[in-house]
Amino acid sequence: MFQCIGYAAQDAASPLAPFSFERRDTGPHDVHIEILYCGVCHSDLHQSRNDWSNSLYPMVPGHEIVGRVVGVGAQVTKLKAGDYAGVGCLVDSCRECAACTADLEQYCLNMPTPTYNGRERNGEALTFGGYSDQIVVDQRFVVKIPDTLDLKGAAPLLCAGITTYSPLKHWKVGLGQKVGVIGLGGLGHMGVKFAKALGAHVTMITTSPEKGRDALHLGADEVLVSRDADAMAKAAGSFDFLLNTIPVGHDMNPYLGLLKLDGAMAIVGALTPLDPVLGAHLIMGRKSIAGSAIGGLAETQEMIDFCAEHGILADIEMIAIADINAAYERMLKNDVKYRFVIDMASLKVAAAAA
Ligand SMILES: [Zn+2]
Ligand SMILES: [Zn+2]
Repeated sequence: MFQCIGYAAQDAASPLAPFSFERRDTGPHDVHIEILYCGVCHSDLHQSRNDWSNSLYPMVPGHEIVGRVVGVGAQVTKLKAGDYAGVGCLVDSCRECAACTADLEQYCLNMPTPTYNGRERNGEALTFGGYSDQIVVDQRFVVKIPDTLDLKGAAPLLCAGITTYSPLKHWKVGLGQKVGVIGLGGLGHMGVKFAKALGAHVTMITTSPEKGRDALHLGADEVLVSRDADAMAKAAGSFDFLLNTIPVGHDMNPYLGLLKLDGAMAIVGALTPLDPVLGAHLIMGRKSIAGSAIGGLAETQEMIDFCAEHGILADIEMIAIADINAAYERMLKNDVKYRFVIDMASLKVAAAAA
């Protein structure tokens, strides 16, 4: 074991504060990463405050991790010291079930191991995430970040990026299709960029005309204000696919009317109960509502490589780790375009001052 420093929540009510803890030594299949940047996902905020009633403390949040490889185990082939690497929402899985063997570790039938707020597969040690100076992860759960990708804007790709890329690929979004991205936040802004890069005609569907204007700057072709009944009626039956990034339960019925025959809407943000759906809205037009969670490790690497090829990055605001509690308050007010990223160089300063 070796000593690390980070920022942790000690309980649901306390702000995050400096924290010392141990990680395992680099095993034969492990990659030891010096963390340079970590994106701030909404789940960091909710889990640190036990909003989902499943929090384990102390908790070091963070699952949008990029850094530099400083050491690798003897069996590691895909990375070497000096490479840039990324770690997302998972650090392990059973590796044997039907999902794992199909490169869908996120759906591991024996539950994948989350990067934080979980336990290692021995069921004992807590996992600690990316608000820290270093991490040790099995090479299967590490992706390689090409030197050409800006690391700061790449960090949010590890959660927000793959969460939106994977459903667009699964539902075969491409040239000639009309895609609606519902909601403009960390997820929605990546959804617009990916759908556009995949060749689709992209419409931002939002309650806010101001967010609509922002989406045009991100590459959306059109805006549909969902509170405008006339505009919604005009757009009825025109979309092949809807990427629904609304983060809370809501009424999906109005969106189903936007889909074409055989159209599908994928839910990627709402973990809480959704309002009842009128069966007729699905039956008439053979429409589907589905869900999608992040992506497997092979697809995460594919997404990173796609971003390098197409010059896709998250739009970010850099913060120091000492500002994390203030950043959480701003996220509650939707006051971020579109992702906070922590500069981990600030951790040493904060730890020294503590
Ligand atoms: Zn996340
Ligand atoms: Zn599995």
